[in-house]
Amino acid sequence: MATNLPKAMRGQFLEAFKKPYALRSVPLPKPSAPHDVLIKVDAASYCHTDFVLAEGQMPGFPKSFPLVGCHEFAGTVVSHFESPSSNATAFKVGEKVGVPGRAFGACGTCFECQGSRDPVSQDEKGYSVYCAHAENNGLSRDGGFAEYAVVDARQLALIPASMTPVETAPLMCAGITIFAALKRCQLSPGERVGIMGCGGGLGHLGLQYAVKMGLRVIGVDAADGPLNLAVGLNTGAQIVDARKQKAEEIVKQVGSEEGKIDLGEMGLDAVIILPESQPAFDYAMTLLKTHA
Ligand SMILES: [Zn+2]
Ligand SMILES: [Zn+2]
Repeated sequence: MATNLPKAMRGQFLEAFKKPYALRSVPLPKPSAPHDVLIKVDAASYCHTDFVLAEGQMPGFPKSFPLVGCHEFAGTVVSHFESPSSNATAFKVGEKVGVPGRAFGACGTCFECQGSRDPVSQDEKGYSVYCAHAENNGLSRDGGFAEYAVVDARQLALIPASMTPVETAPLMCAGITIFAALKRCQLSPGERVGIMGCGGGLGHLGLQYAVKMGLRVIGVDAADGPLNLAVGLNTGAQIVDARKQKAEEIVKQVGSEEGKIDLGEMGLDAVIILPESQPAFDYAMTLLKTHA
């Protein structure tokens, strides 16, 4: 247990639906289980899910008020539980960690924890992000909009020295969501992926990840602001304005680049659809190659 920790901390508490957060001072939270790690929060970012929760549009959450929101944050390890797990002591006091909105307190025994069928999961047996018995910082238990937070060591990632906490925090939800989607496409370098909504919060990160993964990327959006952002990133991805170019034209373009003659052989190897919009689904389905 680190010394010199304060007895109290301030946090922004959600006290009721559709009400602004309230700044309150409360006792410092304590690690209470072997995987628990107490961190000093250095940066916390605001997700659309925080808005949805605060509006009362996530039935069952929060379980009770008040609640500290935020499931994407970053901080510095300050203490462990009195008998910590090896997962917890892998993170030393003073180290900087990113905290994604992954399972807190996964049970270790349910079918998810014992046998994840997630094709891209790198979690050890006994921990699943899908554990139905687990909690989530910022949704069912306190999250990152406070000076300190208790997190599960198994949900953490060390921050490289080249990254700041402010850069890290939004990657812990938006970043890992689109990164995991790209991994689940299971493409090889040189294959083609389309990202619908490429100028949005997830999409603009996806463009950068996908190009760095060696994929040939087509980003699609349908509004000036997001398109300008996507073009301005200069990732090397082809950026398409869906208001001006039909999906069929893109299919023919990539087909001719590959020397294909039959339409049945043309199209993208995968698409990721980010907007909650039927036209985006329709556009993406047209872009896909058969069996992609
Ligand atoms: Zn989020
Ligand atoms: Zn479980």
